[in-house]
Amino acid sequence: MDHRGDKYRDLGIKLTPQRIAILDYLEGNRSHPSAEDVYRAVMQTFPTMSFATVYNTLQTLKRCGMVAELTGDPEKKRFDPNPRPHHHLICTNCRKIVDVHVTYRLPVADHDRAGFDITGNHIEFLGTCPACKKRKYT
Ligand code: ZN
Ligand code: MN
Repeated sequence: MDHRGDKYRDLGIKLTPQRIAILDYLEGNRSHPSAEDVYRAVMQTFPTMSFATVYNTLQTLKRCGMVAELTGDPEKKRFDPNPRPHHHLICTNCRKIVDVHVTYRLPVADHDRAGFDITGNHIEFLGTCPACKKRKYT
């Protein structure tokens, strides 16, 4: 029995060693990696894995609700292995993305709501990260 695959069994997708490697890389990963980042990391263990496999696996995991896709980086999609609702700080210089686990209750007036029932929000705070601030001012 492949114990490394046990925790992913409920996903309802076929667990190839490649997919498990991608899941292992994503688990607890706070960097919001792009598909390219995942590819570079997993290639260390599976040198023959193609970028298409990585990309398709990320799309499959997204459909299963295992990862969320972030749109805050205009250059490339970034993936978040934490699909629970939270917000993000995005450095407009280096594109570092950091989680914000705060619940904001933002009222939207009836006349601004276009008839929507609002079920959630996702806030992207734009700014400059500490490393970029340091580079800029020292
Ligand atoms: Zn930065
Ligand atoms: Mn996040």
